[in-house]
Amino acid sequence: MTTLQDRLRTLDTHLDRFRKDGIRHLIAGQDHATDTWFETRSPVDDSLIARVALGDAATVAAAAKAAKAAFPAWAALPGDQRKAILHRIADLIEARADEIALCECWDTGQAWRFMSKAALRGAENFRFFADLAPGAREGQSLPTPSHWNVTTRHPIGPVGVITPWNTPFMLSTWKIAPALAAGCTVVHKPAEFSPLTARLLAEICHEAGLPPGVLNLVHGMGEGAGKALTEHPDIKAIAFVGESRTGSMIMRQGAETLKRVHFELGGKNPVIVFEDADLDRALDAVVFMIYSLNGERCTSSSRLLVQDSIAADFHARLVERVKGLKVGHPLDPATEIGPLIHRTHFDKVSGYVRIGREDGATLAAGGDRIGSEGWYIQPTLFTDAKPHMRIAQEEVFGPFLTSLTFRDEAEALQIANGTAYGLAGYLWTNDLARAIRFSQALDAGMIWVNSENVRHLPTPFGGVKASGIGRDGGDWSFDFYMETKNVAFALGHHKIQRLGA
Ligand code: NAD
Repeated sequence: MTTLQDRLRTLDTHLDRFRKDGIRHLIAGQDHATDTWFETRSPVDDSLIARVALGDAATVAAAAKAAKAAFPAWAALPGDQRKAILHRIADLIEARADEIALCECWDTGQAWRFMSKAALRGAENFRFFADLAPGAREGQSLPTPSHWNVTTRHPIGPVGVITPWNTPFMLSTWKIAPALAAGCTVVHKPAEFSPLTARLLAEICHEAGLPPGVLNLVHGMGEGAGKALTEHPDIKAIAFVGESRTGSMIMRQGAETLKRVHFELGGKNPVIVFEDADLDRALDAVVFMIYSLNGERCTSSSRLLVQDSIAADFHARLVERVKGLKVGHPLDPATEIGPLIHRTHFDKVSGYVRIGREDGATLAAGGDRIGSEGWYIQPTLFTDAKPHMRIAQEEVFGPFLTSLTFRDEAEALQIANGTAYGLAGYLWTNDLARAIRFSQALDAGMIWVNSENVRHLPTPFGGVKASGIGRDGGDWSFDFYMETKNVAFALGHHKIQRLGA
């Protein structure tokens, strides 16, 4: 097995060029000149990783210009040629998967055991949409006695992709791959906390033969480069993943230019455990779905709703598991939980520990900082929470679970639906009729019954209420990145009114 020391040495060789040159924008296939910079630091020890080019409205304008110029040729390229290029991108991601995972762990604090798979999932995303590219334009034939109606789909134009810092590489591929497969060109603005692997992705795409200008990368702040991208008249749509309140801002910013928006936003996802469930499997899933990926995961099950008849025993087993979680260096093969991404996020998560205590919930595990270097926090569990409490309502986005109890199905549903969010839900029961009833009534875009989150790329991904607008996955992604056109061919015999005759 590769040791932590081996991984640190390899990482060092990958980071060397960024220490010298900084992490730069890539526009029209070229490094874009910059004289303003910000810093990205590792959550492991707060050390400087590299300086990062700070994009502004002028940088975004240059990127949008490049994306606009590249659009006609890319859109016109036959789908099988786009497919071939996207498969080459996937090949190169696979070839550099270790480098991507090492950089992602160091930049975000995520544990290697999850990030090595996330890099490969990025390649899978490219392969999945590559295979759909040749059929992306397909439509329907809708004949009537007088007309033959035919629909076709056309890429909407240059689009903006704005991504967050949690699993940034995988999430970026999830947005960029369908956009490119559809025939759109892209300006990508990654999160300021995790710029490193976005640069690797842009480089890989160009190395794979993506024409200059088809994917452009602009680093910077949300209120600077991000805002400018949402306001740019040549950018036809914004695919955004991030917080719900940022989604509201983007909707306002894009109103003037009538932006089409696709939002994947926050969540406060319930996992509901009924007394008749397979409790061993439910326990494994409950722990996995909030403590993997540092809990920095939109689909994490951050609210446990457990039936009161089994709550005491379930909580006792849960506490033992939470206390047994291995917190450590993200590149250590044994680590299950790494440090939180940034000081500001550490302060936010720690703040909710204080809020939970003040509101009267029981701190059953964790809650304290670990060490004095880096942004490590003990995996945290609150029990005896009440539905109105802030820790049961607001997204904490850390290794932080809030547990509530319920008497019966009706109360479970009321609690589960009683937040502003509606991204995902997890249901554990062996009563089939209840599983059907409950999943139909639960306000969520995605529900897993007797399962943790297992993704299947052709299925729709997205949320309801404050968790989002629109769906990704399979053909749903193309609906967003493409316009549908209907052409009606008259068969030549319908009556045309003769006005003025
Ligand atoms: P964030 O909203 O703070 O930032 C996301 C991105 O938006 C960043 O690139 C940021 O620079 C940019 N941004 C910020 N303000 C902007 C503005 N005014 N205009 C344009 N862009 C702007 O989110 P975050 O803290 O980076 O990520 C965590 C959030 O993302 C959580 O709420 C999480 O649930 C959500 N998320 C949702 C999904 C999903 O699929 N539903 C997936 C992953 C993450």
